[in-house]
Amino acid sequence: MTDHVSALGRGAGTRFGSGWISGVLAVVLGALAYGGVLCLLFPSWLTTPDARAHYPLDVVRFLIYACLVASFVLGTLSVLLRRSKTLGITALALTTAATLLGGSSARVGTLGGTRAYVGLDWFLLNVLLLALIFIPMERLFARLTTQPIFRRAWQTDLTHFAISHLLVQVTVLLTLAPATVLFAWAARPGLQGAIQIQPLLLQFVEIVVVADLSEYVVHRAFHRIPWLWRFHQVHHSAEAMDWLASARLHLVDIVVTRGLSFVPLFILGFSPPALYAYLIFVSFHAVFIHANVRFRFRPIEQLVVTPRFHHWHHAVEPEAVDTNFAIHLPIIDRLFGTCYFPDGRWPSAYGLAGSPVPDGWLRQLGWPFRRVRAVVH
Ligand SMILES: [Zn+2]
Ligand SMILES: [Zn+2]
Repeated sequence: MTDHVSALGRGAGTRFGSGWISGVLAVVLGALAYGGVLCLLFPSWLTTPDARAHYPLDVVRFLIYACLVASFVLGTLSVLLRRSKTLGITALALTTAATLLGGSSARVGTLGGTRAYVGLDWFLLNVLLLALIFIPMERLFARLTTQPIFRRAWQTDLTHFAISHLLVQVTVLLTLAPATVLFAWAARPGLQGAIQIQPLLLQFVEIVVVADLSEYVVHRAFHRIPWLWRFHQVHHSAEAMDWLASARLHLVDIVVTRGLSFVPLFILGFSPPALYAYLIFVSFHAVFIHANVRFRFRPIEQLVVTPRFHHWHHAVEPEAVDTNFAIHLPIIDRLFGTCYFPDGRWPSAYGLAGSPVPDGWLRQLGWPFRRVRAVVH
């Protein structure tokens, strides 16, 4: 077993046939089903109001049912195969608890007048969707073939992913605040009207350009200004690149970057459908550029940011430090002289040499606020 393999695998091996794969899958599916049942029971507290009305309930119930059955079967298999029963029993406990709460036929709870909620539905759906897309992609087209799915510190990154989704109400509110509170005066109905009559596809392209220009400025500031760098350093402390590493972002980093990037989009007043299309695009693209995949997209890699371009942003090589700030368009880095994209090569390793950033979500949350004698860039 390599040191990449986390505590989950310790003690009883992780190879095929050891009951580890079935055990991990069973726990993940059991947790998804349990979370889904909780969403049915307590929709006011655990689901996103904007999404709530659009859920096809039959499909949701079927998904919960399929997860419960698969978790039970795989959990039982893991218990039979594996010396250490922790994974299998955890999965069986989750399926039992979910079933006792009503399982896939749990009655939908009443929608009270609660205003505060956590986005458990948003987290469950997104983690399921992204895992279904990226885990097979990274297995089939891995750049680093020896890097396992459960590489070191995956728990930290999954917790970042979970918390930023669960706190969606707070992060969306804070993201919209700088624009709506501070820049409402800058909106010009005439200009906004002229922008909104353009075709949606053109607006989408304009949003990508405008958003990436502001993301570039904010991102560069996070690298340049020492107290901001302490927050962004959390993102750069990742030593393994994969889809989950994209989630390692301090909450301050998320809110400030999204909030400031949204200001010009708000002032220009793009049409909501074009903005939603961009939100879907950025939430996929930002994950994809971190993925452990070897695609180069040679014809377009100078036009659109690819995994190889952003992997260089995370590289340990000194010549790559403070380069490739753009999220979508490499030309922005070329224009400002911050591009580092050696032909065909990939970085030798990722992260910050001698990084003081600790492991674990809570420690990373508090770390930038700690007083230090010297800030190392
Ligand atoms: Zn960065
Ligand atoms: Zn990154």
